[in-house]
Amino acid sequence: MRALAVFPDRRTTDLIEVPEPPAPKGHEVLVRVHEVGICGTDRDIAAFEYGQPPLGSDHLILGHEAVAEVVELGEDVTTLRVGDLVVPTVRRACPDPECRACRVGRQDFCTTGEFTERGIKRAHGYLSELVLDDEHNLLAVPPQLTDVAVLIEPLSIAAKAAEQAQAVQERLPWEKEKARILVLGAGPVGMLGALAMTVTGFDTIVYSREAEDSPRADRVRELGATYVSTDQTSLAKLPAVVGPIDVIYEAVGVPSVAFGAIDALSPNGLLILTGIPAPAEPMPLPLDRIMKSMVLDNQAIIGTVNASRSAFAMAVQRLEQAMYLIPYSVRGIITKRLPLDAAPEVVLEPHGVKDIIRLVNA
Ligand code: BGC
Repeated sequence: MRALAVFPDRRTTDLIEVPEPPAPKGHEVLVRVHEVGICGTDRDIAAFEYGQPPLGSDHLILGHEAVAEVVELGEDVTTLRVGDLVVPTVRRACPDPECRACRVGRQDFCTTGEFTERGIKRAHGYLSELVLDDEHNLLAVPPQLTDVAVLIEPLSIAAKAAEQAQAVQERLPWEKEKARILVLGAGPVGMLGALAMTVTGFDTIVYSREAEDSPRADRVRELGATYVSTDQTSLAKLPAVVGPIDVIYEAVGVPSVAFGAIDALSPNGLLILTGIPAPAEPMPLPLDRIMKSMVLDNQAIIGTVNASRSAFAMAVQRLEQAMYLIPYSVRGIITKRLPLDAAPEVVLEPHGVKDIIRLVNA
């Protein structure tokens, strides 16, 4: 069967032939991959800036935003059936008995750094026709989400962020229902973040570099959010135009933008960082002002990385809600569906907001 793999030593990304997985045993499940979404992380791996092959392997099979169909069950599987549509989680627990997070199934909070991530770090991903996984890493998805289920993994980033925001803001008497959210960036993470916020009922503003009359700005407005372009409003003017903001949801991976927007935060506000910046030269920041306002206004900055099974389950709920309220806009986030043959090129050069590789025929 075919798979898309990155070879860091020879600096190539190729379609390769790999043996089919063996029959599932115990709690293992064999799945046929239907679709895999491509994201910035895949691009960074294909540019040899991120990711790691499994130990002892010269290549890493890419793909972590997957949706698949169950084709065979190990003898101990109790939670899934053949034919179920499933979405796999990405991160796998480290083996350290002392890592409390991994031992309680919260490998997204792993403390040893020895976790693996399928398609990213030391574990092959889902850009291959058949894959084995443990039933505990697979979430059954309602069939009515079939054509958008590939958005669940990137949507779970917003779900995990919401889980964290809720936990942090337990510290104060805040009116969640009235929260104003600023999303930085209209890429897939920003766009799906905006979707999660608007369907939850938050007043949501998306700030990004595309023009106010661009198709992407239209997509944002279709989700029910307000769009503000860097063309019209510089970062320096943003706080005056959109503030005060209760939660800034950063989805650009650019530190100058993340911290440049911090003046828009309200007292007790929260800056949530999701982007992974590329290495860059040090840059000046007004740390005195930032620290003073953080202290005097009880502000908090938190980073968030994907994701627990509960965040995936929450993403499924949000997607169901969104497909009920704004199905056309949800489908509009998926720009293109392309065959596996196109994967080596798509992984390097995005066509639009969310490109999907489809591994089975319609
Ligand atoms: C993935 C996460 C992963 C993160 C860091 C993201 O693109 O969605 O699952 O933890 O990259 O590797």
